[in-house]
Amino acid sequence: IKKSGILEMIPLKESINDIGGLLKLKNWLIKKSKVFKNLDKALEFGVDMPKGVLIVGIPGCGKSLNAKAIANLFEAPLLRMDMGRLMGKYVGESEANMRKAILMAESISPCVLWVDELEKAFAGVGSNGGASDIVTRLFGNFLTWMQEKDSPTFVVATANDVTKLPPELLRKGRFDEVFFVGLPNLDDRKKIFDIHIQKRRPDDKNNINLDLLASKTDGYTGADIENVIIESVENVFSEGKNRLTTEDITKVINETSSLSVIMKESID
Ligand code: ATP
Repeated sequence: IKKSGILEMIPLKESINDIGGLLKLKNWLIKKSKVFKNLDKALEFGVDMPKGVLIVGIPGCGKSLNAKAIANLFEAPLLRMDMGRLMGKYVGESEANMRKAILMAESISPCVLWVDELEKAFAGVGSNGGASDIVTRLFGNFLTWMQEKDSPTFVVATANDVTKLPPELLRKGRFDEVFFVGLPNLDDRKKIFDIHIQKRRPDDKNNINLDLLASKTDGYTGADIENVIIESVENVFSEGKNRLTTEDITKVINETSSLSVIMKESID
């Protein structure tokens, strides 16, 4: 299972402090982590075993980042299950692969199991229609496991499009909670700029007008903001300057926004 790439151990570099915004999700996770890290005590106290969380939202808004930060927060290894690779050629192979992957995850639990791009794996299951028998059976197995599991294997499932998810997944008893993450607001964008400037040019941060940057980037995702900073730092370096300034960053923002206008116009 490990060799086939179905389960991959992900290194834990990102922490909850690397996420700008998403306060509700972060606070919820902090509460869950207290249970997860003191499981025996919590269960004895009457708290339920944490099952998992489903995070849905547009690309680039920090879903993958959250999966990594959760494992860090929970102080547990992170395993990523690749649903694409799970699909086998032979009868029963996909189900057997999923069983093996789940068994392996449970054998190293407490752990966090990240199931990425959930809607791709289970497209067309249930009332959405159109799924193959194999996919429907796989989904059934996954659902049953989610409902019945009592091992400390915390599932973080991520998906881009809620409308493509089987509705059964959203019912109570599957995940502890479903979070929708959208575009960051003004305040969140300010924090995301702060995080990515701090990562690369901490000494320049105090002289940078974060409010101005946030106000100029309405509609940007976290990933877009990170890219603006990556490009600005590279420009400054290649121009032989030794400081990153607000102007360097706004120049990149102006260029990227005019580029997206040109791209939009050519699509229209
Ligand atoms: P996809 O669906 O394409 O996988 P995603 O929602 O999982 O997208 P990430 O891969 O987590 O998005 O985001 C890409 C990068 O953008 C992250 O590694 C991070 O550096 C940056 N980023 C995104 N959202 C945030 C955020 N809220 N705070 C800080 N950085 C962010």
